Order: sequence, then structure tokens, then C-alpha cells
Amino acid sequence: MEYIAREELEKLQFLRLKETLRRVYKSSPFYKRLFKENGLKPLNFKSLKDLPQIPFTTREDLRKNFPYGFLTLPLNRIVRLHTSTGTTGKPKAIFFSKKDIENSAGLIARSMKMTGAKDKDVFQNMMSYGLFTGGLIFHYGAEKLGLLVIPAGAGNTERQIELMMDFKTTIIHITPSYALYLADILEEKGINPRKNLNLRMAYLGAEPYSESTRQKIEQIFNIKAFNSYGLSEMNGPGVAFECQFKEGMHLWEDNFILEIIEPSTGKVLPDGEEGEIVLTSINREAMPILRYRTGDIAFVYPDKCQCGRTHRRISRIKGRVDDMFIIRGVNVFPSEVERILMSLSEVGRNYQIILEREKSLDVMRVKVEIKKELFDGSLEHLRGLEEKIKAKLKSELMLTPKVELVEPATLPRTTGKAKRVIDKREI
Ligand code: ADP
Ligand code: ZN
Repeated sequence: MEYIAREELEKLQFLRLKETLRRVYKSSPFYKRLFKENGLKPLNFKSLKDLPQIPFTTREDLRKNFPYGFLTLPLNRIVRLHTSTGTTGKPKAIFFSKKDIENSAGLIARSMKMTGAKDKDVFQNMMSYGLFTGGLIFHYGAEKLGLLVIPAGAGNTERQIELMMDFKTTIIHITPSYALYLADILEEKGINPRKNLNLRMAYLGAEPYSESTRQKIEQIFNIKAFNSYGLSEMNGPGVAFECQFKEGMHLWEDNFILEIIEPSTGKVLPDGEEGEIVLTSINREAMPILRYRTGDIAFVYPDKCQCGRTHRRISRIKGRVDDMFIIRGVNVFPSEVERILMSLSEVGRNYQIILEREKSLDVMRVKVEIKKELFDGSLEHLRGLEEKIKAKLKSELMLTPKVELVEPATLPRTTGKAKRVIDKREI
């Protein structure tokens, strides 16, 4: 399936789309209404090109029809509930049938296998178990592939380290911010992650991060780190994943139809152009969602991957449409600030962006942890670095920030998704 010819893949997509349209038209209260209101009938869809006739589905739609308004199966066929983490408001409820669970495990198993995971690997899942999909969905996939799975969950870092050492963990699944936090704690305990651990790979996902952060994590742990993308509404993790070439994430197009749109107009954009990811699930029973606006900004690589897989690749996620903040008329994604900061070798592992109002002017203040080796008990000798960071941010963002250097490992750390921006302007 990973190497299927494009033509065959598109045929399969269309078959599955038709089946999905029939299903939602017959049984999903939300889509029944939507199709009626727009005069749409599954029979009238003749090719994939007809997909844009269907209006987008938004988070708001999911919320308004909470909890059961999207279901296409009766409750006796539903076996699992997950919710989104609620980064952007009230969580959304997502349901799985037995077949959906089986299928989502298949997507994870496929993704892990692609990176070279083997059944003899010891896999420690450091994502939160429970309602969040990063725990259980990944867990089932890793088991399906036959790895030894340690369901460690997020947090309790001391215990994580003990588990890693006792069972010689070789692969971890973790948020990039928690990976850096873990590195701090290892350092505090005098454990050398390159020497005293057996790690060889990490799957990093659930939040935006930069290429430099990936490299930092690879270097600290002496591992290969792969980017993993997903969202509860579509599957949880296992929607798109990097192969060994680590240049974009193959989006599993036998399960999802991928579109990139211009967020303001909804216009579908060609490969190579940056916009919002829109996904249609075409292989789900309980709760298929059509043309879902993910809010995530990326582009599709227009060329073929060296690995030969035919599923198109999406770029690293720049952020969410609603992560972007506007300061003095300049649009800024937190991930751009991260990219610039982490490209400087003097910068440590954590940062925070504070937006505030001074008199009537908006100001962006960036708190930056410095590298441990530079800290000698005071920050006085680092004025020059402060200026350097300021100048770099200014030249790349076209905006003059305030920069405040702080001691290593002093900014708030998280074991889940990081909150990078504190907006005090409304207070
Ligand atoms: P919530 O929307 O409440 O955060 P989810 O737990 O479903 O709920 O999170 C999915 C979101 O997490 C995605 O829409 C995306 O914004 C973010 N995300 C997931 N994986 C990645 C990744 N590899 N890079 C950047 N962002 C990611
Ligand atoms: Zn590839």
C-alpha cells in the first residue's frame, strides 16, 4: 500500500470516498442535514474532483453537534471514546468502532515499521494515556507490530528514567518539549543519555517544533528522531509520519484525502504552496469527517520522496491558524521564533513568548534560557548575546522584541503540549 501507483491510489480513494459519502448520507445526523441543505447526493459524485462541492466541516460544527451528532453507527457498535486535548477550547468527542481501532493501530504499525522499528524493540510510550489519543492509539499500533510496549504515560520523570534504564528502552514516543525536559532531569541526575541509555529512536509529535529542536534532541540522546503528525478528529497519531529521509511526513492517502487551502478564502492550493491542511477521512466507520479544517499550516512537497513511497508528504507544521499572533501589524507564528532561537548555539532548551502592552504599544518579550555551559552564576557577562538574539529576531521577523536571558531550566516545563505564548494584552 505504501508504494501503490498514484493512479491506483486515487481509484481506491474514490471508492472509499463514495462508500463514506453513502454512509454519512444515510446515518450521520450532521451530514444528512448538510447534504440536504446543499442539494448534494452521493450518487452525483463522479470523481475525486467533485469533492470540493462539499462545504468544509469545522471545529465549531463538531462542538455544536457534541456529543453524538456525527455518529453513523448505533452505540452498540461503538467501543471507544477519545477527546482532543482541548488546546483550543472545549474538547471534541471522537468515537471508534472495533474496525476503526483495528485500522488506526494498522496506521501506527505501518508508520513505525517505516522508520525501522522492529519487534525486538522496547517501546516506552511517554504520551498521556486516557482520553488523549497519543497514549492508547499509539500503544495498540506498537503492540500490533510486536514491540514490547511500556505504557509509561506522561510525567513522573524519575520513574520514566528508571523504566528506561531497567528495561533498556530503545524507542520513545514523546512531545518535543518533554524530551528537552527529560534531558534536563537526566543531566541533573548525572545520567548521560548518550552513554547510559539504550535509545535509538524517538517519535516526536503533538505540537509544533523546529528542525533545530529536532537536531538538538537527536544530538542530546544520540538517536534518530522522527516527526509524527495527527489529530483526534482523524485518527489521533498515524495520519502522517516521516520516513528514513526525514523530509516531510508521508500522509496516508489511502485513509485520508489531503487538500491545502488558503485559510481566508477556502481556495484549494496547488502542491508546494503553504496553507491550511484539510482532511477527509475515507476509511472510518463510526465518525467519518469530510473536508475537516485542521487549522494546521503546512505545504505539500511537490516532488517524489527518495524512499519511493507514493503517498504525498506534508511539511513540518508551522503552527495553527489560531496560534498566530499579530503584533504591531506583523503576523508571527511561535514556531518561527523557535526556529530562530534554536538556530543559535548559545541558546538553551526552553523559551517563552510574552505579549504585553506598554502604554499603548504592543511589545513581544522573549524569555530565553541560555546554554548551561555559559552560565557562571550570573547573566551579567551575556549582554552581547542578548543583543545578538534581539538583532536576529528583528531581522527575520521585522519586529523589535525585548529579549530577556534566563538561567538554564528555569522556565515552566511541561510533560505534554507546551504553552509557548502568554498574551497579557487583554488583561
Ligand atoms: P487539540 O486540537 O485539542 O490539541 P489533539 O490532541 O487532537 O487536540 O491535537 C492535534 C493537534 O496537535 C494537531 O491539529 C496539530 O495542531 C498538533 N500536532 C500534532 N502533531 C503535530 C506535529 N508533529 N507537529 C506540529 N503540530 C502537531
Ligand atoms: Zn519517504
